[in-house]
Amino acid sequence: MNAIVIDGKSVAARLRAAVGAEVARLPYQPGLAVVIVGEDPASQVYVRNKEKAALAAGIAGRTIRLPATTSEAELLAVVRGLNADPAVDGILVQLPLPAPLRAQPIIDAIDPAKDVDGLHPVNAGRLANGLPGLVACTPSGVMKLLAEAGATLRGARAIVLGRSVLVGRPVAALLTNADATVTIVHSRTRDLQAECRRADIVIAAIGRPEMIRGDWIGPGAVVIDVGINRIADGSLVGDVAFAEASAVAGAITPVPGGVGPMTIACLLENTVIAAKARRV
Ligand code: NDP
Repeated sequence: MNAIVIDGKSVAARLRAAVGAEVARLPYQPGLAVVIVGEDPASQVYVRNKEKAALAAGIAGRTIRLPATTSEAELLAVVRGLNADPAVDGILVQLPLPAPLRAQPIIDAIDPAKDVDGLHPVNAGRLANGLPGLVACTPSGVMKLLAEAGATLRGARAIVLGRSVLVGRPVAALLTNADATVTIVHSRTRDLQAECRRADIVIAAIGRPEMIRGDWIGPGAVVIDVGINRIADGSLVGDVAFAEASAVAGAITPVPGGVGPMTIACLLENTVIAAKARRV
């Protein structure tokens, strides 16, 4: 069998266009503020891409660049200022923050109604309880790719590899809310391979280059590879050994070009969702 390759780039482009069309219909311009602290080059690229994508969708994108020496109190003051700014619908603080800044107190300070990253405990808790709220962008992108692949979730056996707050946990909650039977595995799990082989849906988010081999995948399974790992030759690979897994799976996302492009598109979607909820 040769798996269908799920084209995240084109799904993301469609979503960005749909968000742009929706923005054009709104009687106001939604605003997204991205805060970046320090000079981490990867974060700088992510933030520039977010700003560009926001502007292309007609969202007022604003980036607030702060020096690495910013104190927690100063960063909290910036977040509170954005919470109070009526032109700002979405606030994203780019993670990771440079040491010694701690992420959690900053995330906790963001108004949950403007938390377009979906990481505030109120939004994470709403998701866990099956209530509506702002959903973290990468997990939301994963669900859209499953829909694109035509995966049946109700009653399906789904495995989520990884239990991070950013990916594994929210993906598991979304799949549970969609009536899948979900197993979450992590670094302490026994016999990962056997758990994986039983699954109809495999979501890989462990950050280990190509650890999930072809013989870990059940025939016809839908595989979504969240992992982004840079290997010795400088190229990017996922957590799944793509060539081996595509010989067995029914559908699979590539890396790059799978989940990656969905994250920013879902951020734009969240900004519009937040704007519409706030500006009723
Ligand atoms: P974390 O490092 O926060 O979490 C990794 C999870 O994988 C942990 O739960 C860890 O278990 C588990 N794990 C690590 N090694 C193993 C192993 N050998 N066997 C089983 N489980 C293991 O990573 P993130 O969730 O933030 O990211 C995961 C991957 O997704 C990374 O490659 C990251 O780059 C990528 N990513 C991609 C995004 C995108 O836009 N496409 C966005 C966010 C992340 P334990 O809890 O026991 O330590």
